[in-house]
Amino acid sequence: MTTLSPVLKQATPVVVDHALGSWIHGTDGRDYLDFTTGIGVTSTGHCHPRVVEAAREQVGSIIHAQYTTVMHKPLLQLTERLGEYLPAGLDSVFYATTGAEAVEACVRLARMATGRPNIIAFHGGFHGRTVAAASLTTAGTKFRSGFAPLMAGVHIAPFPYALRYGWDEETAVAFALKELDYLLQSISTPADTAAFLIEPVLGDGGYLPTPVAFLEGLRERADRHGIALIFDEVQAGVGRTGKFWGHQWSAASPDILITAKGIASGFPISAIAASAETMGKAWPGSQGGTYGGNAVAAAAGVATLDVIRDEKLVENAAARGDQLNAGLRDLQTQFPGLADVRGRGLMQGLEFFTADGEPDAAAAAGVQQAAIDQDLLLLTCGGYGNVVRVIPALNVSDTEIAQGLERIGAAMKVALG
Ligand code: PMP
Repeated sequence: MTTLSPVLKQATPVVVDHALGSWIHGTDGRDYLDFTTGIGVTSTGHCHPRVVEAAREQVGSIIHAQYTTVMHKPLLQLTERLGEYLPAGLDSVFYATTGAEAVEACVRLARMATGRPNIIAFHGGFHGRTVAAASLTTAGTKFRSGFAPLMAGVHIAPFPYALRYGWDEETAVAFALKELDYLLQSISTPADTAAFLIEPVLGDGGYLPTPVAFLEGLRERADRHGIALIFDEVQAGVGRTGKFWGHQWSAASPDILITAKGIASGFPISAIAASAETMGKAWPGSQGGTYGGNAVAAAAGVATLDVIRDEKLVENAAARGDQLNAGLRDLQTQFPGLADVRGRGLMQGLEFFTADGEPDAAAAAGVQQAAIDQDLLLLTCGGYGNVVRVIPALNVSDTEIAQGLERIGAAMKVALG
């Protein structure tokens, strides 16, 4: 009998029968509250009727209109709609299929636009699993170990992870910026540096908001040195943090923006946005792919943006995020191992430490597993594997957040005593 390879490590034993909104109905007959959303993808909940309808209708017109052969209406519509949300000056967009592919495309774009070779990424970042994206990923050894040689021209600078060192945020930001300046001075000079690549909130690396002052410090250095600032909004974008883009918590704006995941409620599509001037420095035909900007995914993307606007889901993410954060902080008072509760909007992380102040991966895994018995689906993350991440749909209700909090509390009681 052929079986699925164990290289795909499944976090839960659940096999989905069907799913709707924030609920997954398993073939085991149980109804699970889904606080994983397919790793931050099903932004409008599972199978939102408007997204389903848009995809159904598109399947009947054209499924695959290869975009470097013939253009199709959904991609033109998506580009127009996306343009309503893109930062000023980012008026040129192209599409790929996955986040990793979009990250690779950005490496090519930044190198062509600047004529420089190196990319500086930040410790704990996750940018994908292809070899180039893995070279930029330092969110855990499983994404890198054994895959060498990775892509050349990558330097990893410190991320201001204040909690790990028992510092305040200001100290951590000052340290990380100084280290970055030193790197630019001694390892990868500005003349050799094409881009900084960073997530506005560290995703797989620990659900850790990137301090606003750090994003702004990067913007200032990018301007000073002619380095492109790339924001990887694959996980933090499209309303997830309670603002449309995760970087909008700061005054810093990117030169290149990557989005994927939540943009199409589960259909695979990613987009790269930059100024027309930047895009003009890349030669025509230097980007693309057979399936990029798929017509059904693009139609689902337009419907997703419509639902997010019409149902005020960015506002809901902010309000439900506050409710979730307050409830988790309440739990923190009962469990000393829960060292930190942090996040923005519906991107909340719970970081566990042992009594000695060391990362406690067993606690995070214990809570995630115990939650399954409470019919609640969660994921872990973090370079040490000691963070539980909570990623509800953007249209989650206050009742569902309350139910989720109750179940997280019950799971923590089982796992932590
Ligand atoms: N960037 C970020 C910030 C991500 O969170 C992810 C996926 N977790 C990726 C890139 C890679 O996306 P994909 O899995 O679609 O290749």
